[in-house]
Amino acid sequence: MQERFCKCGHKLKVQYTLDGYIPWEAVILKGDCAESPVKVCPCCGSYLSIHFLR
Ligand SMILES: [Zn+2]
Repeated sequence: MQERFCKCGHKLKVQYTLDGYIPWEAVILKGDCAESPVKVCPCCGSYLSIHFLR
């Protein structure tokens, strides 16, 4: 689990699925509730990709 930030500054948690079907993909979790993987930032709505996070 690593912390990353959306370009808008919203904090997200990234869980790498190393044993999944797509080992290079990541599940991006909401900052406060680490139970719901998200595809877009809950703050600004931007599409989230591990490559675009900082
Ligand atoms: Zn954002």
